[in-house]
Amino acid sequence: MKRLVILGGGESGVGAAILGKEKGMDVFLSDMGTIPARYRQQLEAEGIPFEEGHHTEALILNADEVVKSPGIPPTAPIVKALVEKGIPVISEIELAGRYTDAKMVCITGSNGKTTTTLLTYHILKGAGINVGLAGNVGKSLALQVAREHHDVYVIELSSFQLENMYHFKANIAVIMNITPDHLDRYEYKMQNYVNAKFRIIQNLTSRDAFIYWQDDPVIQAQLEHLVTEAQKYPFAEHKEEDTKAYLDAEDELIINTPDTSLQMPRADLALNGLHNLYNSMAAGLSACLLDVKKEDIRKALSDFEGVEHRLEYAGTVDGARWINDSKATNVNSCWYALESMPEKGVILILGGKDKGNDYSEILPLVEKKVKAIVAMGKDNSKILSYFLGKVPTLLNTHSLQECVDACHDLAQEGDTVLLSPCCASFDLFSSYEDRGDQFKAAVKLLKPKGVKS
Ligand code: ADP
Repeated sequence: MKRLVILGGGESGVGAAILGKEKGMDVFLSDMGTIPARYRQQLEAEGIPFEEGHHTEALILNADEVVKSPGIPPTAPIVKALVEKGIPVISEIELAGRYTDAKMVCITGSNGKTTTTLLTYHILKGAGINVGLAGNVGKSLALQVAREHHDVYVIELSSFQLENMYHFKANIAVIMNITPDHLDRYEYKMQNYVNAKFRIIQNLTSRDAFIYWQDDPVIQAQLEHLVTEAQKYPFAEHKEEDTKAYLDAEDELIINTPDTSLQMPRADLALNGLHNLYNSMAAGLSACLLDVKKEDIRKALSDFEGVEHRLEYAGTVDGARWINDSKATNVNSCWYALESMPEKGVILILGGKDKGNDYSEILPLVEKKVKAIVAMGKDNSKILSYFLGKVPTLLNTHSLQECVDACHDLAQEGDTVLLSPCCASFDLFSSYEDRGDQFKAAVKLLKPKGVKS
């Protein structure tokens, strides 16, 4: 009997354990930390043995194969020990891919993955396709393969997930963009990160599609020395050679695939901003390639409700709009947020756990649109020293309430307070969702100036 050991008791790990058991393997799950109660209950209900709080080498190094949670870095001692022994370490997606013939739409990129994944899912679901949502969002692919059996899966893949994928094959692979992120995990070498992202196209054949942003310099450079048999579907704001999705001179979105030619006014798209135009193009291309009817695609692109914590409207106080973009955990996503803001009067909240940020990318937009930066974090020294003298007002705060109060004092009618912090949230919050939720709650409690609390 094949022994399958799972490292990490989260969504992907527990899904992999259930699938492994269903396929007749001897499964054991080990988690160095605490397994969340609902996953522990699931393991108990399925009769799958597990341990938490430590890794017992004797129970792990006897595996035939190991599924590793994407959160565990390759430098973790237990992973190193497995590699030294020559025991294959794979991802949950790699395992699940072996047991399904479903069509796979796989989406990666530094920014826009979740939005594009949910938008693509929304189009396919609305068109009546038996579709599953997996990867970083929704239920694990492994669990769905074990229990639900969909015809198509839309899967959001992070670079961490892609690291341990080898034979898994996408039918449609999407790379939204590649900008520096998570460099702490990649020895601060950008190429290591790029290589991880490009694993998404590694097994594509001539019957498969590769959708990507044509103007991304990093993708372009990589494509110069990389051969793929896949059919290429680049998208760009304006038509260039071979562009398959673009805006025409009348501001109409055009999408061309071998069997479809779709056209719709940009103004009808539910999501605003240049970044969301790209997200709509990528999702629209995938749907056209899956033969979804044009009217279904148009409808879904125009009635999608957006995703929480991504440029989410949080309220208006004293005529100033408050926007929650807590998911902007790197500099590039903040650039797109600023790009979609009004020309002036932006109060920008930055700060958190820096992943090797270079703020020069947003400086031109900051100089043009931002009237104040309010830094919010345990250690704001990098932000304060970089922006000193570059914005009219620069404030230092160390808690969400202190930050929101400072923004409220600064905000005038017509201003926009934008939480788009460029950083991970772990210094003051448990996650970006927690940061966004606390922000929205604090905005709700704000009283108009002049009204005593
Ligand atoms: P991901 O899942 O890749 O982190 P999200 O869809 O969650 O992407 O969006 C993350 C952040 O990036 C949000 O702040 C959002 O406003 C911004 N964003 C969304 N799509 C794009 C894009 N195509 N390019 C750049 N930034 C984007």
